[in-house]
Amino acid sequence: RAKADADRHIYLFNAQMEKHNRARLELVSDLRQACIAGDQFELAYQLQNDLSSLAPVGFEVLLRWNHPTKGRVSPDTFIPIAEETGLIREIGLWVLRTACQEASSWPGDFNIAVNVAPQQLMQPSFAEHVSDILLETGLPAERLELEITEASIIDDQVHTLKVMQQLKTMGLRIAMDDFGTGYSSLAMLQTFPFDKIKIDQSFVQNVHIDAQRAAIVRSTLLLGAALNIPVLAEGVEVEDELQFLRMENCSSVQGFYFGKPMTRDEMREVVQANQPKKKTA
Ligand code: C2E
Ligand code: MG
Ligand code: MG
Ligand code: MG
Repeated sequence: RAKADADRHIYLFNAQMEKHNRARLELVSDLRQACIAGDQFELAYQLQNDLSSLAPVGFEVLLRWNHPTKGRVSPDTFIPIAEETGLIREIGLWVLRTACQEASSWPGDFNIAVNVAPQQLMQPSFAEHVSDILLETGLPAERLELEITEASIIDDQVHTLKVMQQLKTMGLRIAMDDFGTGYSSLAMLQTFPFDKIKIDQSFVQNVHIDAQRAAIVRSTLLLGAALNIPVLAEGVEVEDELQFLRMENCSSVQGFYFGKPMTRDEMREVVQANQPKKKTA
């Protein structure tokens, strides 16, 4: 009886695993197909605002995949697959080129922030690719920010430091994304030349009522001030969170409170509406 039960559990477990593996293999092949098809990817743009003036200062670019039959697939599902298969290198270049093209066509001087995966940074030619794209699109390097996570650094610190220095020499800025979620965010700040810290949204949500999160966010802001690195808070959803961040001298903010990631047309309207006023003589 017990044996039969155990066998049945093993059978169910295996069936479940097989189903999972099949679904994953299907996504891998669909993602390959998407890279060839070329019309399934799209960029979304999320506002980043200065906290003292609340003025928009730039946009983070977020990749979207419109699967032909499944509809939108979340980046949290397909980015890991793109990383495991190496497809992220090709996809990441497309994101960077498309984002720079877009930003170079805007009037004014809004910034654009692009996520860069560890494998992209590991490529020996990454800095060269970025430089080519800037030349090709005419976007001034000062308007481009690259967001990298701790995972990019852990693999090969010597190489990463070299690439970061190359990128900074070119004039662009580098932000540490998802700050606080890794194992050694603090050590990373000491060794690597970051221009911005992005506090992960998991610490920002409910920061006004959660004492632990408040302590973590406060210390990160103090750290940023001491190291002279501006801090952006991610995932701001409500006014109370914003008030807390303002009281604690956070530099800039991003989150649903200011807007969900927008389509290209919506983003363009925001850019148009926020042009610096012409001085009257
Ligand atoms: P991330 O870089 O930390 O991006 C922020 C994520 O938080 C985005 O999710 C955004 O839509 C979401 N978000 C922004 N404000 C709020 C808020 O107020 N509340 C909540 N609950 N969420 C908010 P998204 O677009 O699903 O992207 C998830 C992750 O996928 C990104 O996290 C990033 O790690 C990765 N990703 C997205 N696009 C790219 C890309 O082009 N390249 C690479 N390598 N990774 C990307
Ligand atoms: Mg990011
Ligand atoms: Mg983040
Ligand atoms: Mg994230």
